Amino acid sequence: MAVDVIAKLREGAAVSGRVWMLASDGRVVTYAELLADTGRVANALAALGVRRGDRVLVQVEKCEEVLTLYLACLRIGAVFLPVNPGYTVAETAHFLSDAEPALAILEPGRQAFVAGAVSLGEVVARAAAAPSEFADADVGPEGLAAILYTSGTTGRSKGVMLCRENLASNAEALVGVWRFTEADVLLHALPVFHTHGLFVATNCVLYAGASMIFQRGFAAGAVLAALPQASVFMGVPTFYARLLAEPALTAEAVAGVRVFISGSAPLSPSTHAEWAARTGHVILERYGMTETNMITSNPYEGERRAGTVGMPLPGVEVRIEGETGVIEVRGPNVFQGYWRMPEQTAREFRDGWFVTGDLGAFDAEGYLRILGRAKDLVITGGLNVYPAEVEAALDGLPGVKASAVIGVPHADFGEAVVACVVGAVEPEAVRAALRDRLAGFKIPKRVVVVEDLPRNAMGKVQKAELRRVYAELFSGVGE
Ligand code: AMP
Repeated sequence: MAVDVIAKLREGAAVSGRVWMLASDGRVVTYAELLADTGRVANALAALGVRRGDRVLVQVEKCEEVLTLYLACLRIGAVFLPVNPGYTVAETAHFLSDAEPALAILEPGRQAFVAGAVSLGEVVARAAAAPSEFADADVGPEGLAAILYTSGTTGRSKGVMLCRENLASNAEALVGVWRFTEADVLLHALPVFHTHGLFVATNCVLYAGASMIFQRGFAAGAVLAALPQASVFMGVPTFYARLLAEPALTAEAVAGVRVFISGSAPLSPSTHAEWAARTGHVILERYGMTETNMITSNPYEGERRAGTVGMPLPGVEVRIEGETGVIEVRGPNVFQGYWRMPEQTAREFRDGWFVTGDLGAFDAEGYLRILGRAKDLVITGGLNVYPAEVEAALDGLPGVKASAVIGVPHADFGEAVVACVVGAVEPEAVRAALRDRLAGFKIPKRVVVVEDLPRNAMGKVQKAELRRVYAELFSGVGE
């Protein structure tokens, strides 16, 4: 069993003067202050009626208090339920009716829509007047810690139930694999409603007794300005692409950083190579999902192989049927099921293994390559085309900034491969350039040059959206 999150918080607080955070307003917060703050917030939440097992829905813009609320919920034994502030009132209504939270903490403008909701300001004010002493609930490793709703690109969004051991075991594994120590300073620019910024980044810091520089959002300039004070940076691939667009990104600017970590979406081998050429740093890519926490990581020492997500984390098992197939996962990292959806949960497990829905293959040295979501696989003329392979080839062409490959209905082929490409390129030249890189059936029948790709908050390309837009591409006469 891994050490519980709150035990780790107490361990950090026992070390005099240990710094937890440099807040966005310049305030320095120690672990001892964090423990006291979480005690005050826990008392405030309890006074608002939150009890052990209750859900606490939090939908606010990124701020330091979200992390305090997360830890305060754990101290009560309540279930932290963060929601992307980008969701509309109508979308949020689903989470409210589905999760039935005892308390909803919303932006002031949203409160009016939800009976009994409070603003973050109200909670902070109540906490300021509350005592810092709080008797933690005695919750075991199986106790629920959080529910995170999946982005729900296909159908209804599902509530992923994570227990304390899910979070704790993953934090311990990552701290070891990424060599976190108390001397580390992580630059935190990720959203805190998602597993990446909330659990991977935050819990690595907490479990190592390290510190973080907290930024309330991602801005390339602000990140570059803070990097000289940081030793670790975590980002989604779009962060890296945006930083590369900054002339101020140089080897000197990042000399103090010991590791750059990427995940949540595929990092293109060309971004990987460009980053290495510009900074001298080889980005360490890892793979995970809300349901499983982190699954694999490239090695800290040893080769960090572009286009792969490395090997399973200690304690995590990964299996793939056949050479290329759906990735299945087992271990203490795997979630407890979807909230109030037992049948759906049962469908996504196969004799105790969670079926991720991602396609993958191990290479000869045991590095896992992600080939895309199973539902994004293109079957054209009876042959399988893995979008990730075509995208990697496209991203390597001069002028291509980003690409997404989809299957579109086609009378002869069933599906035709279509590439949406961002960049100053000519479609026929792109197709021609692919000819010596890919077999004929993998070459897009059509290359569409687009201004931008539709992405979610984590930078993941919304392929369902692209398939909708281009569904009729081959329905015209003569195609
Ligand atoms: P989420 O639950 O929002 O974190 O999304 C998880 C999904 O993101 C996974 O199932 C993968 O499809 C994708 N993903 C995460 N990390 C990577 C990565 N390093 N490379 C490719 N896909 C990734």
